[in-house]
Amino acid sequence: MRDFSAGHEALSINTATVRKSLGQDWPLDQIIDACAQRGIRAISPWRDQVAAVGLSAVAQQLKGTGITLSGYCRGGFFPAGDAAGRKAALEDNRRAVDEAKTLGAPCLVLVVGSLPGALAGAPLYTDIARARTEVRDGIAATLEYARSVGMPLAIEPLHPMQAAERACINTMEQALDLCDELDPGCTGALGLAVDAYHVWWDPKLQSQIARAGASRLLAWHVCDWLTPTRDLLNDRGMMGDGVIELKKIRGWMEAAGYRGFAEVEIFSAQDWWLRDGAEVLDTCIARHRSAV
Ligand code: ZN
Repeated sequence: MRDFSAGHEALSINTATVRKSLGQDWPLDQIIDACAQRGIRAISPWRDQVAAVGLSAVAQQLKGTGITLSGYCRGGFFPAGDAAGRKAALEDNRRAVDEAKTLGAPCLVLVVGSLPGALAGAPLYTDIARARTEVRDGIAATLEYARSVGMPLAIEPLHPMQAAERACINTMEQALDLCDELDPGCTGALGLAVDAYHVWWDPKLQSQIARAGASRLLAWHVCDWLTPTRDLLNDRGMMGDGVIELKKIRGWMEAAGYRGFAEVEIFSAQDWWLRDGAEVLDTCIARHRSAV
């Protein structure tokens, strides 16, 4: 297992972690500069943050700083109430693939979606099996395009507490079954983003990481699970402040062949987003060494 205690070469910052500094929006170009100043070698930005600065400006800034991407957030949300909605989702995913390509991302992360409209509090239907079929078809169609331009897709299984609103793929096993169906040759075109926050509780986690193997393990997201958790979405903890055995899980990832970044992804409306972004980045570096 790699030794993270002496440096942070393997650290990536998911820029949602510092999307706010002292409670105010922190623009992506400033985040990139702050990462470069600290020798942080990789980030994973979100589409809205990129759009706010401008795609080509961000691509240029990344080139200038030498910072690479550990992923691009995100595509997905395939289910819709009607054919027009599903078509619009596919078109949007195609744009996301193109943006990921422009930024040189190693993969586009997919939060696949579930009951359409549920996120806004008004589900258009309640048949989760139907949502899963629409997700399968959406990934299959997007995969065809992504393959043609050489952009791997990383399905992110989400904790079942998000099963209605954000993702009807909730376990590693379910995600890998879909990978095996759509990419039976394990070509590297389709795999997983393994987010510790979503999968740490899964009794099959170790065996499914081993099953995935290096060709399917496209990204590794870290943070911590706080007890108690005060909000289902935006109360993630800093690594070392909760109950996830991050080093143990990373050991499983590396035993399966994973050699990529450990990407810090913390949504924290009541704590880290209220602090100075510089302090958050410095803490990420320290905890990457001690707790990841
Ligand atoms: Zn994640």
